[in-house]
Amino acid sequence: MPALADWMTLDADWVAAHLPRHVEDVEDRAADLERIARPAGIRRGIVADCPHCDGVLVAWIDDERQLRGRIVCTRDAGHSWEREQWRHLGRVLDPTPDLLDATHLADWLSRRFLTRVERVTVWQWARRGYLDRIDGDHVGRPLYDRHAAADWYLEHRARRAG
Ligand SMILES: [Zn+2]
Repeated sequence: MPALADWMTLDADWVAAHLPRHVEDVEDRAADLERIARPAGIRRGIVADCPHCDGVLVAWIDDERQLRGRIVCTRDAGHSWEREQWRHLGRVLDPTPDLLDATHLADWLSRRFLTRVERVTVWQWARRGYLDRIDGDHVGRPLYDRHAAADWYLEHRARRAG
């Protein structure tokens, strides 16, 4: 369920805007999303099955008070993740390796951002110095850190939009 876990590395605002679409990406889990407009402006989204028990992880995002989002298990309140722990949780929920070759990185970015990123685009970014190439794999293909690539993509897109 890569797409779902990945959004946890993003800002709460961005997550709030994209939550329903990302959850639709999850095909092999029973996770669904409820987007409840509550009086307090709190939105709740089902994230995934809890990695520690048979509960379900629910994200709480407060639109009005700009509180940082929080993810809590429905069965054990001790299973909770503050905003700065979301990246770690994302890694637990998304077994995708941190380092990917251009083809897999392009696919991963495409799923994560619900867009189409081509392999050649990854190569261009690397050639222009936006992405660091990391030691090649066993057949010598360069690898890229998907977290750094995602950060770059977000920044790049924001700059283009601005
Ligand atoms: Zn739990």
